[in-house]
Amino acid sequence: MQKIIVAIDGYSACGKSTTAKAVAARLGYSYIDTGAMYRAVTLYFCEHYVSLTNVREVEAALRSIKIHFSYNPALGKSETYLNGLNVEHEIRKMYISAKVSDVSALPQVRREMVQQQQRMGQKKGIVMDGRDIGTFVFPAAELKIFMTADLMVRARRRQLELSEREEYVELDEILDNLKTRDRIDTTRAENPLTQAADAYVLDTTHITTEEQVDFVVNLAQSRMIDVNPANGNQSANV
Ligand code: C5P
Repeated sequence: MQKIIVAIDGYSACGKSTTAKAVAARLGYSYIDTGAMYRAVTLYFCEHYVSLTNVREVEAALRSIKIHFSYNPALGKSETYLNGLNVEHEIRKMYISAKVSDVSALPQVRREMVQQQQRMGQKKGIVMDGRDIGTFVFPAAELKIFMTADLMVRARRRQLELSEREEYVELDEILDNLKTRDRIDTTRAENPLTQAADAYVLDTTHITTEEQVDFVVNLAQSRMIDVNPANGNQSANV
């Protein structure tokens, strides 16, 4: 069966990573969490006091950053490494969420991350989630999903996730953070978050994770058949 690229974009805390991870496991594909890459860059910038208005400082910092993912069999999931250190826990904290959208809006940061993401997807067989995957990173991805959900539902889910990591944050603070990130992510000049014209919309407000995963896996399987050369049809139509 021909491998495809599954691009999952959408707002923060809609369940993108949970869905993407499970879809990748079901398809036997790799999962790339691009939000984690921007979060790791943000962590480095915070730790090294990089000024976001100083282009040279930003470029020098980017040259010093190596990000990779490594599968942790004990947890059954991939974890994010920044310059060889496991930063999976640190990058999920609120102080990173508060800064990540400003860092991600910088053109130099986007160019570097997009190049790395495109290299990761060269051989296909990946599920990648983020904000610009179906629109800029892989505009020819065989399957594009755009995820959305009610703001309050998203905030409650994020609060639960944080509390599972022993970080207790007021709902109002989370709501503010989600609204601010949505605004910056959708209005930035470079690669803003938008729904690709050929994306399927998945509203997760009232559905379970299992239903989200089934929806994407079913579409992915039909795409794989569409692009299978044995069917004499290389182009997938949405
Ligand atoms: O997905 P997550 O919420 O972890 O992403 C954190 C932030 O990283 C987003 O709010 C956005 O500013 C940035 N991001 C991005 N492009 C992506 C993925 C994430 O700008 N492809």
